[in-house]
Amino acid sequence: VRLVVWDDHRLGAFEQDGIHDLTDLVDGDCPAPAWAAPYRMNELIARWGELRSDVEARRTAGPGVPLERVRLRAPSPRPRNFLAAPLNYVAHGAEMQGSIGTGGGTPNELGFFIKASGCLADPVGPIELPPMPDRRFDHEGEIGVVIGEPARGVPVERALDHVFGYTLVVDATMRMTETRREERTMRKSFATFSPSGPCLLTADEVPDPTALTVRLWVDDKLRQEGHLGDLVVGVPGLVAMASAVLPLEPGDLFATGSPAGVGPIRPGETVVVESEPIGRMTLPVTQRAW
Ligand code: MN
Repeated sequence: VRLVVWDDHRLGAFEQDGIHDLTDLVDGDCPAPAWAAPYRMNELIARWGELRSDVEARRTAGPGVPLERVRLRAPSPRPRNFLAAPLNYVAHGAEMQGSIGTGGGTPNELGFFIKASGCLADPVGPIELPPMPDRRFDHEGEIGVVIGEPARGVPVERALDHVFGYTLVVDATMRMTETRREERTMRKSFATFSPSGPCLLTADEVPDPTALTVRLWVDDKLRQEGHLGDLVVGVPGLVAMASAVLPLEPGDLFATGSPAGVGPIRPGETVVVESEPIGRMTLPVTQRAW
């Protein structure tokens, strides 16, 4: 199923004829207040076993809402934990060798880092660059893993049982300089730096996660291409490693790392990120107005 969050954080299943509304499956007769609406996806994931057959029925019922009439939102907008893998593709590690702009080290050495979940953004962008004209901002197009079953101390062999699905995430990054060496978390957590979407593709539609690919273009020039089979630490290893540190919960998001080809983005450019079964995000880059 291609799950989406849209408009006022409504839930939906995306089908050929548009979005089939799933909101009331979690809201019941009592609409979620505005502050709680972004957490609907966490509840849908947590109650998936119980609600799955209702979701299936909705997929074929009634006409869908056309995609062009809605605003898509990040498909897991409230991860309690938003984790990310450093230098998780061999070729990307090689291109960053000796660069001042990175902390260095793969997940085998460094484990995971966190991005503030407040930097998540809708799959329509924009990516807003803060007013820091002397700094370089890079694109990193990545596959994101969304956690389903709670995971605490999970062995690698069973880690995929705790993966609910897959989405796209941009891990936009401010690079360090000779004199400015801010925490990685801060450099990667500016507002809007992590557009995610366009959908959350459930794991049952992905028989072989290592075959998932991600491609990223800037103004129609292909900059990045990679697939999860090239990861230094694969999805099961990432989930197992993180779950040994702290319990992972339904809706948690793990950005798996960026393929080679990372480069700067500037206001006026357009970033496109695509993964065949997940879909495509088209993201204008702008100058932040505040
Ligand atoms: Mn990254």
